[in-house]
Amino acid sequence: MKKWVYTFDEVSEAEALAGDWDSVRGLLGGKGANLADMTRLGVPVPPGFTVTTEACNAYTDAGLSVPEGMWDQVRGALDHVEEKTGKTFGDPDNPLLVSCRSGAKFSMPGMMDTVLDIGLNHEVAASLAEISGDPHFAYDSYRRLIQMYGSVVLGNPDEPYEEILEEFRTKTGVATDAELPTDALKDIVERFLKITPRFPSDPTEQLKLAVEAVFKSWSGKRAVDYRNASNIPHDLGTAVNVQTMVFGNLGEDCLTGVAMSRHGATGENHIEGDYLFNAQGEDVVAGIRATIHIGEMANDMPKAYEELLEISDQLENHYRDMQDMEFTVENGKLWLLQTRDGKRTAQAAVRIAVEMVDQGLISKEEAVMRVTPDQIDFFLHPQFTVESRKAAKAAGNLLAEGLNVSPGAAVGVVAFDADKAVEWAEAGKKVMLVRPETKPDDVHGMLAAEGIVTSRGGRTSHAALVARQFGKPAVVGIAELDIDLEGRTMSVEDRVIKEGEFVSIEGTSGEVFVGQLPTVVPDINDRWLSTLLGWADEFRRLKVLANADYPTDAIRAKDYGAEGIGLCRTEHMFFEAERLPSVQKMILADTTEDRQAALDVLLPMQREDFRGLFEAMSGMPVIIRMIDPPLHEFLPGQDELEHELHDLEEDTAVEHGAEIAEVERKLGRVDDLHEENPMLGFRGVRLGILMPEIPKMQARAIIEAACDAKENGFDPKPEIMIPLSIHVKELERVKGLVVDVAKEVTKERGIEVYYQVGTMVETPRAAMTAGPLAREAEFFSFGTNDLTQTTFAISRDDAEKSFLIQYVEQGILPVNPFQTLDRLGVGGLIKIAVEGGRTQRPGMEIGICGEHGGDPDSVALCHELGLDYVSCSPFRVPVARLAAAHAAIDQK
Ligand code: PEP
Ligand code: MG
Repeated sequence: MKKWVYTFDEVSEAEALAGDWDSVRGLLGGKGANLADMTRLGVPVPPGFTVTTEACNAYTDAGLSVPEGMWDQVRGALDHVEEKTGKTFGDPDNPLLVSCRSGAKFSMPGMMDTVLDIGLNHEVAASLAEISGDPHFAYDSYRRLIQMYGSVVLGNPDEPYEEILEEFRTKTGVATDAELPTDALKDIVERFLKITPRFPSDPTEQLKLAVEAVFKSWSGKRAVDYRNASNIPHDLGTAVNVQTMVFGNLGEDCLTGVAMSRHGATGENHIEGDYLFNAQGEDVVAGIRATIHIGEMANDMPKAYEELLEISDQLENHYRDMQDMEFTVENGKLWLLQTRDGKRTAQAAVRIAVEMVDQGLISKEEAVMRVTPDQIDFFLHPQFTVESRKAAKAAGNLLAEGLNVSPGAAVGVVAFDADKAVEWAEAGKKVMLVRPETKPDDVHGMLAAEGIVTSRGGRTSHAALVARQFGKPAVVGIAELDIDLEGRTMSVEDRVIKEGEFVSIEGTSGEVFVGQLPTVVPDINDRWLSTLLGWADEFRRLKVLANADYPTDAIRAKDYGAEGIGLCRTEHMFFEAERLPSVQKMILADTTEDRQAALDVLLPMQREDFRGLFEAMSGMPVIIRMIDPPLHEFLPGQDELEHELHDLEEDTAVEHGAEIAEVERKLGRVDDLHEENPMLGFRGVRLGILMPEIPKMQARAIIEAACDAKENGFDPKPEIMIPLSIHVKELERVKGLVVDVAKEVTKERGIEVYYQVGTMVETPRAAMTAGPLAREAEFFSFGTNDLTQTTFAISRDDAEKSFLIQYVEQGILPVNPFQTLDRLGVGGLIKIAVEGGRTQRPGMEIGICGEHGGDPDSVALCHELGLDYVSCSPFRVPVARLAAAHAAIDQK
């Protein structure tokens, strides 16, 4: 008979059977595995057992029917628990009460069902009131059971139960449910039973239906949505943990709380959390009552606090990771109800990883692997400047302050419900989701929003946990924020904000501002981040270069750890307002002399830019690409010229003959240069072939700048890159021009400078004929934006607008190939080109400089394909450094 149920004492047996710890977690769920493991470690855990994920899957597969033998095994496990606790399930004289909780392999906070206090009925409640000497507690537990049963197991709406509670609070003049007198609770029980006619009084029946409810909740909508958003497979199933109830609501020597072994937002190495006296666990998480900071427990209950600190250390050392624990103190005795690896912000993840290496808990390699490239990306997220916050405060725009539960700055228009947030986000608006508190049903809105604001809830509230996990800035628990969901407004005192108006939040400080604050990118030189990235550098093989066009970008890129420039798009230098007229003259010139005159104006400007790059990147490669994009991007539009012509002709006050002739000439040239598909027309190396003055000017500017930089004491390493080549003859021609110019300049200046001439590989033909190309090209750089465009034969400018997104949504393509490199197609061509190039020219330097260079999956592919470097935008450099380290470690 298959084993469907394991008591917490049987973890070693489960491990022997499952093989390894990961499989134990697969079988018993994360929570069940850890409860059993804690039991094995001697941590005080209330006795219990786990019904396996396999049982859940069998139940689902059999059309909601429990597998044979499962209830017998549950009964056997219950016997074991009764023996350990000395109590009996359903026995009024000495009742055992149990909880029934979900627990999948990966934590899905709040997404599935829980039922507490199972085992109560009229008889048991009455006798529990007597045995405990606390009738209030007995009837409070009983009404909670019926209420949870109604909503979780029977799927009744919550409101009727809440209305009854409200009615009794008003009637008895108390503010919270905890203060309701016992008689009121007894009446409430009767009223609850009336609206929950299917509540079974038989404890065994209660347990069976609760277990089945948890099984079913695995396939519930909110669990499915959550798994989709978190990439958790749908076929894992959930385990069910049935555990002896311990009570944090048995009086003033009882409390219940949650604690993280380190600070989940900052990573600081001290325990962090909240608790409530005389309460049950869900009161803490729901944030209905104001919680007490864990530090206070040292005074309130010193013995239990000391023990908690010891257990926290013990569990961290055992799991070698930060722990998120739930605990209860029942009549002075501490119990651990759960532990799991704690969710944390990006900042905390980095700091914790680094400090755990310093403590000798994990290796550098593990630390590097524990931080994801996405988390590094978070460091580059916007923040508000100190000045803008000061200014907003001075202007009276600080609306309120709440708990700073998930860092980063966000700006958006207020939406008061999740569906509206999604609707507006889909329409392209930036949205701030504002709710009294969030529930699992709000997750889609939270994902669509830039940030999250709630008026209730604590550090461990649903809103805080989910926001942190998905890297959304959030401020919660703003007590003075009044939200009027009907009127679609929120207010603090007399300041009213309507739905659709902008607010800005700072999740690191907990501030909420009215209006839109300007944002900046935070300091990348965070001490822990620098350390972690330094370790990543020790493991990676790929170099990381940056795409940078100006010296200021180059300096930032170097700050971020770039080891050179992988792509300087020289045409970007041409777009500047003061240069554009000369660029237009150069393109529209009828004669070589006219063109040369325009180029003579541009040459010193380019030289200055290049010198700045060489000096910023002294000793490192600076790959400068000859002008590439289609000419029309620099030219005035036909319409614009026609208008100009019209205005000149209309203006009869002055003689405009010469100007009219010039505009007509330009119109003629623009017409000549018009192309239907310019991205595939007169661009790249083709320009240099037909207008050789241009590459000659650029080569001169580069070599002269290198001479200048060298004279200034720097070590310039220019690599001159020819774009969009399709034939070695093109390279022969243009490289010839470059070499001649270089000879000229070095002779003029009497200075020798290092340089190389290479090409971009951006077409399938170039990739397939890489061998011959490498006869001339001293290096290759894959322009994967164009290579993707030319391989797929889909336009990089139009595809995303028209059909590509749908292709991905419908699963025709697994990913957007302009974002993540297409492994088989584009990757296949890269592989061929690398082999071809290196066979012809062993050891030649090869990298990529398309947008893929900052995408972690693409970086991994580049590592596999044996490239030397990836080049990406300066902001992505840290992400690429970590991704390259992950790729190298994964390959090991
Ligand atoms: C490329 O095509 O990948 C590339 C880097 O060049 P551009 O994006 O400028 O065409
Ligand atoms: Mg290109």
